[in-house]
Amino acid sequence: MSTSQSTSTIVIGAGVIGAAIAYDLQKRGRSVTLIDRDAPGSGASFGNMASIAVTEFMPVARPSTWKQIPGWMMDPEGPIWVSPRYMPRLIPWFLRFLAASRPSAVRRLEAAGAALCEHALADTQALMREIGIVDQMSNAGCLSLYANEAEFQADRERIDMLDRFGFDYDVLDAPAIRALEREITQKITKAVLLPNNRTVADPQKIVLRLVERFEGFGGVVRRADVTGFERDERITGVRLGAGVLRADEVVLSAGAFTARLSKLLGELMPLETERGYHTQIMAPGIEMAHSIIWPAKAFMVSPTADGIRVGGTVEMAGLDAAPDYRRAKITVRRAREALPNLKVEDFTEWMGHRPAFPDTIPVMSASAKTPGLFYATGHGHLGLTYAATCAHLMGDLITGGQPALDMSPYRIDRF
Ligand SMILES: Cc1cc2nc3c(=O)[nH]c(=O)nc-3n(C[C@H](O)[C@H](O)[C@H](O)COP(=O)(O)OP(=O)(O)OC[C@H]3O[C@@H](n4cnc5c(N)ncnc54)[C@H](O)[C@@H]3O)c2cc1C
Repeated sequence: MSTSQSTSTIVIGAGVIGAAIAYDLQKRGRSVTLIDRDAPGSGASFGNMASIAVTEFMPVARPSTWKQIPGWMMDPEGPIWVSPRYMPRLIPWFLRFLAASRPSAVRRLEAAGAALCEHALADTQALMREIGIVDQMSNAGCLSLYANEAEFQADRERIDMLDRFGFDYDVLDAPAIRALEREITQKITKAVLLPNNRTVADPQKIVLRLVERFEGFGGVVRRADVTGFERDERITGVRLGAGVLRADEVVLSAGAFTARLSKLLGELMPLETERGYHTQIMAPGIEMAHSIIWPAKAFMVSPTADGIRVGGTVEMAGLDAAPDYRRAKITVRRAREALPNLKVEDFTEWMGHRPAFPDTIPVMSASAKTPGLFYATGHGHLGLTYAATCAHLMGDLITGGQPALDMSPYRIDRF
């Protein structure tokens, strides 16, 4: 091992997670190479809903989940769709997902998500300020919409959770909603304003700017497919096709593809892709300041630099199946129920892979098997939200500092 000043580190995956970690480590004096087979910010970090969503840490698996499972199999228009063809491969993940829905587990998992979200806004603001793009974050919050009292009560679990952890929100009536966003349909009678959620103008730009600043500090970016690893009693490098790149440390942050790489090192992890879609509408014909979610309809709308972005839904169909853009169209149809003046003429559609563990909590951890190897993945629906905080935590973990949080909930060997 070389000294800390000259320790060489490879970070695999130039999504928002890998780019933020590479930037943090390079600043701390590591000599970092960031490797991606694609251009930086081309994966899930390209097309997410641009939301710093500090209130959205509720674990997907809940005690109430059981009742919903039949719908996920039968209704391709539902909020979660499980491809029947993929179901057999999903069973081990799904069994862990059900285990995570036990009331005792849910409370613990909520706390692990809340601990990250408590830091997320301040950390993201500080990072964006540091890399010179803090003006690309809007100060307007997010509105959670309800057509009636029944819909509001159905979302009570989430609101109670915000109370338990002391996250701010305001309940609004119909006139107050219209005063904030006049395009929202009269059918919406109640909303919750989440004032500390934020929207960024273009999530990919955050990755690109992080990479630019990383290179400015002397970091190296390489475009290559990682196909294997070199190790003796610790990690010594990565294989890139026929070549090998040596390093003292390796951080695996390849998003939803991380499990394919960790398997090559004999470390299995129950990581799945929760596929999601967006529709980017370039000339929407409306203006909005806040992002909106409508929990009963399971979609989100965000005002971005290039118009309005509509997205959401979860599709469990694996890493290799072709996108099914019918899901994007369903989401747009629902968004138009909330925003009747939304024009959908000039648009693009996109599908991305959320890296998801069955308990909704990311892994930010040293390998349990290979010294010098670290993992940062599984940030699920909140990778953009968690990136800045994750980078600090990983930076401390890797360089022997004292992370600001107890890292035990995020360990790889919890599975
Ligand atoms: C529809 C949708 C909406 C979302 N909305 C939000 C939101 O509003 N807010 C939020 O916080 N989060 C949101 N998310 C989640 C967020 O986008 C992800 O959690 C986050 O982008 C994950 O970042 P990552 O760096 O781990 O993965 P990625 O961005 O996918 O990056 C992984 C990188 O690893 C590279 N890679 C993989 N395998 C290899 C290999 N063998 N060799 C070399 N490189 C490799 C890939 O090319 C890729 O660039 C959303 C996701 C989706 C799909």
